[in-house]
Amino acid sequence: MKDREKNKGKNKNIIVCPNCLNPHLKIVGLPGVTPPYYVCEKCGYRGYVVLEIPLEEYFKIKRRFSERSKSDIKFSLSQHRE
Ligand SMILES: [Zn+2]
Repeated sequence: MKDREKNKGKNKNIIVCPNCLNPHLKIVGLPGVTPPYYVCEKCGYRGYVVLEIPLEEYFKIKRRFSERSKSDIKFSLSQHRE
Protein backbone atom coordinates (compact mmCIF):
# COMPACT_ATOMS: atom_id res chain seq x y z
CA MET A 1 0.00 0.00 0.00
CA LYS A 2 2.78 2.36 0.91
CA ASP A 3 4.72 1.45 -2.21
CA ARG A 4 1.72 2.14 -4.32
CA GLU A 5 1.39 5.64 -3.00
CA LYS A 6 5.05 6.24 -3.60
CA ASN A 7 4.76 5.17 -7.22
CA LYS A 8 1.76 7.31 -7.80
CA GLY A 9 3.72 10.44 -7.12
CA LYS A 10 6.78 9.23 -8.92
CA ASN A 11 5.14 8.14 -12.15
CA LYS A 12 3.80 11.51 -13.07
CA ASN A 13 3.41 11.86 -16.80
CA ILE A 14 4.10 15.04 -18.67
CA ILE A 15 3.26 16.06 -22.19
CA VAL A 16 6.12 17.19 -24.38
CA CYS A 17 6.64 18.26 -27.97
CA PRO A 18 7.54 15.23 -30.15
CA ASN A 19 9.93 17.42 -32.09
CA CYS A 20 12.03 19.22 -29.51
CA LEU A 21 10.78 17.83 -26.16
CA ASN A 22 9.58 21.21 -25.00
CA PRO A 23 7.25 20.60 -22.04
CA HIS A 24 5.61 24.00 -22.33
CA LEU A 25 3.04 23.34 -25.02
CA LYS A 26 0.17 25.61 -25.76
CA ILE A 27 -3.18 23.87 -26.04
CA VAL A 28 -5.52 25.28 -28.65
CA GLY A 29 -9.15 24.26 -28.91
CA LEU A 30 -12.35 24.14 -26.95
CA PRO A 31 -12.27 21.60 -24.11
CA GLY A 32 -14.91 18.95 -24.64
CA VAL A 33 -15.75 20.24 -28.11
CA THR A 34 -12.63 19.82 -30.20
CA PRO A 35 -9.69 17.52 -29.56
CA PRO A 36 -6.76 19.36 -28.00
CA TYR A 37 -4.44 20.81 -30.58
CA TYR A 38 -0.91 21.48 -29.43
CA VAL A 39 1.33 24.31 -30.44
CA CYS A 40 5.02 24.43 -29.58
CA GLU A 41 6.33 27.95 -29.63
CA LYS A 42 9.89 26.74 -29.40
CA CYS A 43 10.18 24.85 -32.69
CA GLY A 44 6.92 25.76 -34.35
CA TYR A 45 5.39 22.28 -34.14
CA ARG A 46 1.61 22.08 -34.36
CA GLY A 47 -0.51 18.98 -34.20
CA TYR A 48 -2.63 16.57 -32.25
CA VAL A 49 0.19 14.15 -31.60
CA VAL A 50 2.34 14.77 -28.55
CA LEU A 51 4.51 12.60 -26.38
CA GLU A 52 3.25 11.65 -22.97
CA ILE A 53 6.12 10.33 -20.93
CA PRO A 54 6.90 9.87 -17.24
CA LEU A 55 8.74 12.79 -15.73
CA GLU A 56 11.68 10.56 -14.92
CA GLU A 57 11.96 9.45 -18.53
CA TYR A 58 11.83 13.04 -19.69
CA PHE A 59 14.89 13.99 -17.67
CA LYS A 60 16.73 10.93 -18.96
CA ILE A 61 15.99 11.76 -22.59
CA LYS A 62 16.76 15.41 -22.10
CA ARG A 63 20.13 14.61 -20.65
CA ARG A 64 20.89 12.38 -23.61
CA PHE A 65 19.79 15.07 -26.02
CA SER A 66 21.96 17.74 -24.49
CA GLU A 67 25.00 15.53 -24.84
CA ARG A 68 24.67 15.57 -28.59
CA SER A 69 24.78 18.45 -30.99
CA LYS A 70 21.48 19.61 -32.38
CA SER A 71 22.18 18.38 -35.89
CA ASP A 72 22.87 14.92 -34.50
CA ILE A 73 19.48 14.60 -32.89
CA LYS A 74 17.44 14.57 -36.07
CA PHE A 75 19.84 12.17 -37.64
CA SER A 76 19.76 9.63 -34.84
CA LEU A 77 15.99 9.62 -34.92
CA SER A 78 15.72 8.85 -38.63
CA GLN A 79 18.64 6.53 -39.08
CA HIS A 80 21.45 5.44 -36.89
CA ARG A 81 24.97 5.99 -38.12
CA GLU A 82 28.07 5.36 -36.15
ZN1 LIG B 1 8.83 21.82 -30.15
